[in-house]
Amino acid sequence: ITFESLGLNPGLMSALKAAGYDKPTPIQSKSIPHVMKGADLLGIAQTGTGKTAAFALPILHRLAENRVAPKPRTTRCLVLSPTRELATQIADSFKQYGQHLGFRVAVVFGGVKYGGQERAMQQGLDILVAAPGRLLDHIQQKTLDLSSTEIFVLDEADQMLDLGFIKPIRQVVSRLPARRQNLFFSATMPNEIGKLAGELLKEPIKVQV
Ligand code: AMP
Repeated sequence: ITFESLGLNPGLMSALKAAGYDKPTPIQSKSIPHVMKGADLLGIAQTGTGKTAAFALPILHRLAENRVAPKPRTTRCLVLSPTRELATQIADSFKQYGQHLGFRVAVVFGGVKYGGQERAMQQGLDILVAAPGRLLDHIQQKTLDLSSTEIFVLDEADQMLDLGFIKPIRQVVSRLPARRQNLFFSATMPNEIGKLAGELLKEPIKVQV
């Protein structure tokens, strides 16, 4: 399978060319067609498998296919990630792959001042990558509105469990519209994570690599 055969947006194709990606990794070829169609997905995969592009590419494709022009821009895609480092990497990947598409990407995590993150959100954004604790703070301070979120990604779910983030995740999810696409990634499936996946996902496509 090739990236060409997946029918991705031309802007994404040139970013992939610039990145020097020849062909999709297994998680990418198994996930991208389903996510492009709007399906929910349960992915069992480790970091290093190309997991980030497996969700970022089809998400960017969908957002570009279905442009909306709300003023101010609101979060159309929310990605929850357990740590500052991972959140930053994911945001950088969205920026890299989406470099020709004109979306705004913001990243939010704890341990830094609120002001810069608040300004980024007030300027409007399309894609928000966040660690759960700080995101919840912004929601409670009413500096963030998630009522237009179309796509929700939970990454590294098992790490979220280890870090005690399951309750904050449920609180964040309660702020999302009921009608949305959900993507759920975990390296392992302990019981509590299986239960959370069951609550969040609707008839998910299951992909394991
Ligand atoms: P990830 O598992 O998302 O952390 O990705 C691991 C690494 O693989 C990152 O450095 C990506 O830039 C790289 N990568 C992802 N997809 C591909 C691909 N199809 N071809 C070559 N490199 C890739």
